Amino acid sequence: MNVEAKITGWANQLYQKQIEDCSDKELYYVLLNVCKEMMADKKAITGEKKVYYISAEFLIGKLLSNNLLNLGVYDEVQKLLASKGKALSAVEEAEPEPSLGNGGLGRLAACFLDSIATLGLPGDGVGLNYHFGLFKQVFDDKLQKAEKNDWIEKQSWLTKTDVTYEVAFGERKVTSRMYDIDVVGYENGVNKLHLFDLETVDESLVKDGISFDKEAIEKNLTLFLYPDDSDEAGNMLRIYQQYFMVSNAAQLILAEMKQKGYDLHKLPEHAVIQINDTHPTMVIPELIRILTEQEGFSMAEAIDVVSNTCAYTNHTILSEALEKWPLKYLEAAVPQLIPIIKALDVRIRKMYPDPKVQIIDEEKRVHMAHIDIHYGFSVNGVAAIHTDILKETELHHFYKIYPYKFNNKTNGITFRRWLLSCNRELTELLSNTIGDGFKKDAAELEKLLAYREDKAVLDAISAIKWKKKKELVAYIAEHEGIELDPHAIFDIQIKRMHEYKRQQMNALYIIHKYLEIKSGRKPARPIAFIFGAKAAPAYVIAQDIIHLLLVLQEIVNNDPDVSPFMKVLMVENYNVTYAEKLIPACDISEQISLASKEASGTGNMKFMLNGAVTLGTSDGANVEIHELVGDDNIYIFGQKKDVVIDHYAKGDYVSAEYYAKSPVIKEAVDFIIGEQALAAGHSENLHRLHNELVNKDWFMTLLDMEDYITVKDKMFADFEDRENWKKMSLTNIAKAGFFSSDRTIEQYNEDIWKLNV
Ligand SMILES: *Cc1c(COP(=O)(O)O)cnc(C)c1O
Repeated sequence: MNVEAKITGWANQLYQKQIEDCSDKELYYVLLNVCKEMMADKKAITGEKKVYYISAEFLIGKLLSNNLLNLGVYDEVQKLLASKGKALSAVEEAEPEPSLGNGGLGRLAACFLDSIATLGLPGDGVGLNYHFGLFKQVFDDKLQKAEKNDWIEKQSWLTKTDVTYEVAFGERKVTSRMYDIDVVGYENGVNKLHLFDLETVDESLVKDGISFDKEAIEKNLTLFLYPDDSDEAGNMLRIYQQYFMVSNAAQLILAEMKQKGYDLHKLPEHAVIQINDTHPTMVIPELIRILTEQEGFSMAEAIDVVSNTCAYTNHTILSEALEKWPLKYLEAAVPQLIPIIKALDVRIRKMYPDPKVQIIDEEKRVHMAHIDIHYGFSVNGVAAIHTDILKETELHHFYKIYPYKFNNKTNGITFRRWLLSCNRELTELLSNTIGDGFKKDAAELEKLLAYREDKAVLDAISAIKWKKKKELVAYIAEHEGIELDPHAIFDIQIKRMHEYKRQQMNALYIIHKYLEIKSGRKPARPIAFIFGAKAAPAYVIAQDIIHLLLVLQEIVNNDPDVSPFMKVLMVENYNVTYAEKLIPACDISEQISLASKEASGTGNMKFMLNGAVTLGTSDGANVEIHELVGDDNIYIFGQKKDVVIDHYAKGDYVSAEYYAKSPVIKEAVDFIIGEQALAAGHSENLHRLHNELVNKDWFMTLLDMEDYITVKDKMFADFEDRENWKKMSLTNIAKAGFFSSDRTIEQYNEDIWKLNV
């Protein structure tokens, strides 16, 4: 049956209507069902060995347009709808965005699933089906407020399966239910994203905002992603959630192996488990527990089999993000794992006396990453500089023991979503210029370099940027009620709010620029400073930075002397959908983390692919972007990682010194608690942030502040050399091929997974 007949059929079955009479929302449900049917008819990707990608987050974004694209029917559906007076883009708006992730780590997992299926590799994702997911952000009185994100509708991409398992927390038992989302590869077969839910989950537990009874685990386990962990109940809940996830994963994996008739002693020949960050770490002791208690394995056999099946990806060197659970919490939540964890710990003690590599430390905390490193066969970082830091510094003591386990896999992004789908105009131009090959082989984007001096191509890229900026301006006017000028330079910083990412440094630049314009020094062209970011509800300083940005937004945009020359905008509830609109419209990509702290970043890759020029530090994948595009096509500033690491080692960074010795810095910092800011904002938040910057500044904002101002000013000036800017833009697109997640996944497969297909 062709697609038109399917659509007509579903419209009739669901609503007894013709296509032209359906609302956009109805058409969304129609197309949802059409896609689900088409995916069910596609061949499942199979093989002798399969990867299970376990992750607490899958930030998958809306699925309709990507599924249509990967099924190869996007254009056909778009044309059909247009012929009936309907716009596919309006139908896309009607889809709720799944709320199953937080930031880059979850988005990476989503990109990886797309690439695994596109490459035809057998591989499923395993995670949790959070009903309210990550909170929805609203601004109220210039403060972030968190609301529950009620994203699951009656009809959705989720398909209920008949798979259920028992999961025990000591004496308490709960029952799980598996839901599946189909993951269709680009013109390829289908894998699954398995999301486990709690049969007895109770949404009515959630009272105002996102507060709920944290102790009612029989009812709450799959309500929220990352519940507030600032108290003991919150910590315990995260442990319960993690165990719920991995116990289900372990049961699923072993059931699949048995169902395929494999000998569990040969598990590593048929399964590889990629542990995405430390959240799924307990899958190691859980598998060992099941194999020894239920499958007749000796402890040594079980350890051997599980260690050869599990591989670990490290995503951060921030010590507060490396999970260390108090043993007593684990004893209370998952007592059945304690004998295993203790046995694993004792084994390490016997072999390696170094206290830095122990699993249970002197304070009786269990280091989850240490379990992964000792009892997995691979440890990878996510960008070259990050893996180097792991080897040289952060995990050096492990590297000395297991040099052969360490490897780098620089992150990537799926070009289906971040080019083909979010920038159809650029995709078409590329097809017409260099042929269609780049859609399957991203390295072919380099062919574009031959057009670096071709005025027609340069102008066409620039015209697409202009169109995307106008589209964004319209979207922002509608959603934020703010008018931006498409002639302005769009300077964009979108990512989770965190001090190491240094949105506060960007805010200080904005203050500096504001004061400069006030004093009569006007920029050559208007600048739009655009932000998007959610802050963890318990992260006080991050909330304060959001507050400052909203205060600046009000002051700047309402000042008639300044607002013709600059605008500030913090968009509400930044998510994948918003990213897909912001990124194609960006001129300057802000990637300004403190060197050594951003493991990789993937936003930087999305921007580059869409022709933005990076303003960044030598951190994460910026380093590799720099190497690829060369000095002339990127703006790098700030201290390098060795200087930063040395400051931490010596404890000799004193922000107050930078504040005292630079009038420019002092003026910008003090503006935060000046008359104007206090009139627009809240004294408590602003004073706390000011104090933090002057007296602590753990992520060294002021260290790079002057250099940031210099380089950013130069970048704005260079923007006026329009012809050269277009060349920079083209070069960034041409060199982005390396950052396709297809390349990343090929490397995972070659070095770690070895799925022989
Ligand atoms: C890509 C992406 C991220 C990661 O951005 P970074 O700049 O790499 O931190 C976070 N959130 C969303 C919605 C994304 O699409």
